[in-house]
Amino acid sequence: MRYLTAVEDSPPGAARWIPVAEPNLCGREREYVLDCIDTGWVSSRGAYVDRFEAAFAAFCGAPHAIAVANGTCALHLALIALGVGPGDEVIVPALTYVATVNAVRYVGATPVFVDSDPATWNIDPAKVAEAITSRTRAVIPVHLYGNPCDMQALGRLADAHGLAIVENAAEAFGSRYRGRMSGSLGTIGTFSFFGNKTITTGEGGMVVTADAELARRVRLYKTQGVSPGRQYDVEVVGYNYRMTNPQAAIGLAQLENGAALVAAKRAVADRYRERLLGVAGLRVQAETPSGFNSTWMFSLVVEDGFGLDRDGVMARLLDRGVETRPVFPACHRLAPYRDEALTLPVAEDLSRRGLNLPSSTRLSVADVDYVADCLLECRRRS
Ligand SMILES: *Cc1c(COP(=O)(O)O)cnc(C)c1O
Repeated sequence: MRYLTAVEDSPPGAARWIPVAEPNLCGREREYVLDCIDTGWVSSRGAYVDRFEAAFAAFCGAPHAIAVANGTCALHLALIALGVGPGDEVIVPALTYVATVNAVRYVGATPVFVDSDPATWNIDPAKVAEAITSRTRAVIPVHLYGNPCDMQALGRLADAHGLAIVENAAEAFGSRYRGRMSGSLGTIGTFSFFGNKTITTGEGGMVVTADAELARRVRLYKTQGVSPGRQYDVEVVGYNYRMTNPQAAIGLAQLENGAALVAAKRAVADRYRERLLGVAGLRVQAETPSGFNSTWMFSLVVEDGFGLDRDGVMARLLDRGVETRPVFPACHRLAPYRDEALTLPVAEDLSRRGLNLPSSTRLSVADVDYVADCLLECRRRS
C-alpha cells in the first residue's frame, strides 16, 4: 500500500524512491471526511472539531486542547495568551524550525538565541540560565525531531525566574519526559499537523494547557476576539486561526491510530540504531535521559572522519532514490534574524553536518536496511 505520488516523484533512473516523510492515512480518515461532505459540515464548526480536541486533550493528559489552523498560529496564540509583547525577551533555541522565532516577532517581542546541547541537540539549560535578563518572559523549548528537552532543568529555571514555558511539541507527538506526554510539560504546549508530521490534518495545529484562563484566551484570539455565545461582541483584536471540521475529521482518525503511528516511527528508529550506532564517522542524536523520543525524524551527524561530507552523502543517497533533509539552518544565520556577532558553535555545527534520514511510518525493515546500506556504502567507496 505504497503512496503513489512518492513513486511517481522518483528521479529518472532510480529503481526505488524512499521519501523522507509521507502521510499515513491508514484509518477512518476517508470515512470521516466523507461524513463532513455528506452532512455539509465543511467549515470550522462541527462535531469533529470538538471530538478531536477532546481526544487530543485526553491523549496528552491535559485538561484543555484548542484546535487551530497550523502549528505557527498555535505558537502565536500561546504567546498572545501569556501576554508576551513588545519589550519582552523570549529565549529560543537557535537550532529550530523558523516558525518558532517568527511567532516571537509576531507579538513584537525579541527572540534571544541560545545554543544546543551537542548530544541531544536541544536547547542547553545552562546556556538558557546565562541568557536570562530582567526582560525575559518566556522560554520556548523545542523537542527537536521528537527528542524531549530537559524539562526538569528548564522547569527549575522558569520557577526561579518567574518565566512561562511555551513547549513547542510540533515534532514530538507521542514523545514523553519522565512518563508525562509532551505538550503537557510546560505552561502551554503547541503542536503542528502539517503533512510531514507524525499525525497530520494537512495543515493544522493544537494548543494544549492545564490553565483554564490561558485556554479561554487562546479560544478568544483564535476567533476574531468574539465573546463566546455573543456573536458580534468583540472583546479584543483577534485572528481567524480556526481549524475546519474536515481537517479535524482527518485528525481524529489519525489520533485513533496515534499509538500505532508512534510505535511505527520508533520501530524505524530502533532499526536505524541497530545498523548505525557505533559506526565510525556517524553520530546519532542521543535520546534525552528520562525521555522517550517518538522520533519524528531519525537524525545524525556526518563527522569529518566519515570520508564523505554531509552534502556529499545527501547527493549520493539521492542517486540511490533515498531522500534526506539537512538539519535546520541555525536561525541567527537566516536573513530576518542574522546576527554576525553571535556565535553558537553547537547549533552551527549541527546545521552544517546534521542529516535527517527517511523516517516515515510506512517504511519496512527492508527499506530501512536499504537506506542504511546506501549510507554505509558512501563510506566504503569514498
Ligand atoms: C512544523 C513545525 C512548526 C509549525 O509548523 P506549521 O507548518 O505552521 O504547522 C513549528 N515549529 C517546529 C519546530 C516545527 O517543526
